[in-house]
Amino acid sequence: MKIGIVGGSGRMGQMLVRQVRQTDGAILVGAVDRPDSPALGRDAGEVAGIGPIGTPITGDTEALFAAADAVIDFTAPAATRAHAGLAARNGTALIVGTTGLSDADQAVLDEAARRIPLVQAPNMAIGVVLLTAVIEQVARALDPSWDIEIVEMHHRHKVDAPSGTALGFGAAAAAGRGTTLKEAGILSREGHTGPRPAGKIGFAALRGGDVIGDHTVMFAGQGERIELTHKAASRDIYAVGAVRAAFWTRGRPAGRYSMRDVLGL
Ligand code: NAD
Repeated sequence: MKIGIVGGSGRMGQMLVRQVRQTDGAILVGAVDRPDSPALGRDAGEVAGIGPIGTPITGDTEALFAAADAVIDFTAPAATRAHAGLAARNGTALIVGTTGLSDADQAVLDEAARRIPLVQAPNMAIGVVLLTAVIEQVARALDPSWDIEIVEMHHRHKVDAPSGTALGFGAAAAAGRGTTLKEAGILSREGHTGPRPAGKIGFAALRGGDVIGDHTVMFAGQGERIELTHKAASRDIYAVGAVRAAFWTRGRPAGRYSMRDVLGL
């Protein structure tokens, strides 16, 4: 499986370079970053802390998509939009981990997914994918008198809030209740908010230090509370899931897939 990495010098990009290199049957065909990235020209393995591997980080995104069977993209929304177009033109499968996408960004990805297999998940960790399924079931089992609140904490460099994972958990809870996050979500609160409306799904986003990603989904009822928590101790977990998704796309028809599809849930 020929795999390319975009955003190869980023926090996730480095993990992905390492993960592809240590996965049997995976060949790293290239690593690309922004044209103004200080990492351009440096060896991708050195940047990732595993020593030289003979693959320089380049700005040649066109060549990367032409050479790869699948490209893994953990970058930024504007970049991911452009990559979706390139993937569709080249018939390259795309694995998207980028979060903070707007509806317009999503529409571009959905269009690309008519031509190529595209796996997208706000969190590629296996534990998170399983927890998402559990949250949907719990929300389905409890009546709307149980208030749902989602609290997340991430490192100080994270640029979007609430996290894509928190929104994914919220969407699963909403689906369990037969609604959508657009209808039920309260993404932030401040000032005189009044009492909590019934049936809503609230969010709180904390930022600080080097926290990789903690999420708790609370179901708060009268006299009792259920808390479902996932804590990430290493970014490896996302890279493992993303490389697994890349292999899974082999021979798949075009379409937009989630990690639930990849894990066969
Ligand atoms: P980062 O800022 O460390 O890395 C992003 C990289 O993308 C940088 O190297 C940047 O130069 C590069 N980039 C930006 N624009 C580019 C372009 N046009 N072409 C090529 N490269 C470009 O960020 P990060 O912590 O690695 O996170 C990246 C994204 O992945 C974020 O949206 C984050 O929320 C998301 N993320 C998703 C998961 C998941 O499992 N789905 C897990 C962790 C992070």
